[in-house]
Amino acid sequence: MRNLTIIGGGVAGLTAARILSPHFHTSVIDKGRRLGGRCASVLFRGVVLDQGAPYFALSSRMREFLAPILSPVPGTIHLHVEEEQWYIRDGANTIGKYLLAGTDVKVRTKCRVVRSDAGLVIEESGENIEGIVICTVPSTQAVALFPELVSVRERHRPCLVGALAYRGPIDDGGVYARTFEEGPLSLAVRESSKLGRGAVANETVFMVHGSEEFSRLNLERSGEQWIAELRDALEEEWEGVGDAEFLGAWSKRWRYSTVLQEESDRPQEKDGIYFAGDWVEPYSAGLSDIELAMMSGAKCAQRIADAYGLSIKIPF
Ligand SMILES: Cc1cc2nc3c(=O)[nH]c(=O)nc-3n(C[C@H](O)[C@H](O)[C@H](O)COP(=O)(O)OP(=O)(O)OC[C@H]3O[C@@H](n4cnc5c(N)ncnc54)[C@H](O)[C@@H]3O)c2cc1C
Repeated sequence: MRNLTIIGGGVAGLTAARILSPHFHTSVIDKGRRLGGRCASVLFRGVVLDQGAPYFALSSRMREFLAPILSPVPGTIHLHVEEEQWYIRDGANTIGKYLLAGTDVKVRTKCRVVRSDAGLVIEESGENIEGIVICTVPSTQAVALFPELVSVRERHRPCLVGALAYRGPIDDGGVYARTFEEGPLSLAVRESSKLGRGAVANETVFMVHGSEEFSRLNLERSGEQWIAELRDALEEEWEGVGDAEFLGAWSKRWRYSTVLQEESDRPQEKDGIYFAGDWVEPYSAGLSDIELAMMSGAKCAQRIADAYGLSIKIPF
């Protein structure tokens, strides 16, 4: 069997790993502490919170594939969203385990792949990467690894994300999420209302996302500086929050969050180097970025199967 190395253990890389692992000695390498990439969760005040997408739309075939780990959003979304919205029941990052279940994939996390004179190297061990490679890292990082194959630079917007905890079961008539057209916030979700995530009855935790403009302007400032502005905005915008006792905050800076929908050149694929990820396939109306990333991993697997004369099974 040939070696296949997948750089990046987000949903694109893991989907490709799941499909191709019966045909290759497959390894997934990720510089993060856990698999899932931007499908990430964090434990804050005992509650598992989604720190990337809090919810997303899915086509019916993807919904069927992910059904065992999905839940519908716990309440209404203020400002109409047409498609049904879902989340990963036990925390977004558990999608990693689900995608790799039953596979024989070697997983190496906290390993960064870098480029050296000898080619691609795992920075921590100095080991060279041989064989077929699928690169699934965001575009700006892909340019650094493969400058000769990737010309597109920035395909993602930044997003500043915070968690804000308050005393009391702030309900606001069953609203789970509010989106905002103006001001520093783009989204606020009553994240502690997701069932089974460890929420304490007498506390409410919101996740807030900074708007694109606010996130760009504050990207290099410390979390303490910008979270205070997002907190002020939430307390003003969400009924009942301003009167509740504030208990604490957590913040996270995402340099790459969702894809900018402009057309751009696809990366070239040659000499056994392939690409997948939410930025690789053209934007498709109605598909969430998460689904787009998984589709991209599957399409990449199909290109490799075609190149090596393999018959593969795509699970969705
Ligand atoms: C705040 C936020 C909000 C979002 N909201 C939504 C939403 O509402 N709806 C929606 O559908 N999507 C949303 N998304 C986007 C969605 O999460 C992503 O599109 C999707 O998870 C991308 O998957 P991926 O596999 O392409 O990339 P990633 O998940 O980014 O995976 C790439 C992996 O590569 C690793 N990596 C990078 N460089 C290296 C290296 N040199 N060596 C080793 N590993 C490396 C990274 O650690 C990462 O795990 C949101 C994301 C964020 C952050």
